[in-house]
Amino acid sequence: MQCNSERIGDWIEKFASFTDPKQQGFTRFSYTEEDVVARRYLIQEMKKLNLEVWMDHVGNIFGRRAGRGKNQKPIVVGSHLDTVQSGGKYDGIAGVITGLEVVRVLNELQIQLDAPLEVIAYAEEEGGRFGSAFIGSKWLAGEIQLEELDKYRDGEGNTIAAECLKLDALNGEVKRCERRDISPQATFELHIEQGPVLESKGNILGVVDTITGSSAYQVVIKGEANHAGTIPMDMRKDAFVAVSEISLALNRLAKEQPIHTVGTIGFIEMKPNAYNIIPGEVEFSMDIRSLDQTCMEQVTIQMKDLIKRVAEDGGLEFTIRTKHNQPVVSLSESLVSALSASAEKRNYTYITMGSGAGHDTLVMARMAPSAMVFVPSKAGRSHCPEEFTQPDEIARGSDLILDAILQIQSY
Ligand SMILES: [Zn+2]
Repeated sequence: MQCNSERIGDWIEKFASFTDPKQQGFTRFSYTEEDVVARRYLIQEMKKLNLEVWMDHVGNIFGRRAGRGKNQKPIVVGSHLDTVQSGGKYDGIAGVITGLEVVRVLNELQIQLDAPLEVIAYAEEEGGRFGSAFIGSKWLAGEIQLEELDKYRDGEGNTIAAECLKLDALNGEVKRCERRDISPQATFELHIEQGPVLESKGNILGVVDTITGSSAYQVVIKGEANHAGTIPMDMRKDAFVAVSEISLALNRLAKEQPIHTVGTIGFIEMKPNAYNIIPGEVEFSMDIRSLDQTCMEQVTIQMKDLIKRVAEDGGLEFTIRTKHNQPVVSLSESLVSALSASAEKRNYTYITMGSGAGHDTLVMARMAPSAMVFVPSKAGRSHCPEEFTQPDEIARGSDLILDAILQIQSY
């Protein structure tokens, strides 16, 4: 029983044709003309596979294959339909195609599952148009309410609330619902790695057991702007000197953690920012991510303490504002081991790894046991037209999900 790379390759090319012709590479922003055309095609493909198809208010598309058992909690396979601006052909859509291909294999072999199987194409994952990620999966999880759709605006001021009504053009072709209550028993997502690791190990597969935690802070250090020539060194309140110390400490602390942890100051703005004036105020970002919650908390606590101490020592004022704090997500051990067992049985080389990026699974894991499969990204490139993954690598990754579904479906 094998997923078919040729069919997967054909679907990849077909979906790639639904792109904004005015942009470089591949651009399919939610609720645009090309998005509606892609959805129409997806709905048709789902119907050809005998799936019962719904689309909810924000545009998540569900294709349901009925189960024969009493337990009607579905197993979910899917990923997102949208792209970033001038992105690639694989990010997101590869995981939707995995769902379609798994269904096609099961149909061909006339395998009836105990559990229903739902292929989901999540809407608006990237945040490329409205600046906020995971809108579709959060809507599905009940984490966004109808009235909140007004607050997300694109660059031209259009809200999601207004734009998602454009999907009504598909009302004749698909059953509509506001929000589906599917209570999945398990969710799977295949995604391109978006990093260089799997390719560097010889194009192997990744079974994802953790999604990185991520936190970001805006820090402001206030000292005193003054003459760079007349003020002795021991009488200065130099905000930038404090930030230098903070930056080195963040670098050292992240490196010291036993489990993958990274710390970055990626944005810095200095006032008055002039060659002959002692820096009076510095605003900077502090981004801390880790595959381990304790490591992330350790670095955060120690950095907050250090900022306080450095500021006090230099007679400076400081503020720290949390921009976001997303804890580490551990994926389901039993699903991770089902995927790993499949790889071993099929002799597919794989590693267990953490994901450095968030995905719809980040949200779905709050609803149900979840796991992911990563497939290699050529040269680690993604979110660009050069993004490339061999269809047979997507097929092998899909095989793991197919096997894992068969293993858990009688629960
Ligand atoms: Zn993605």
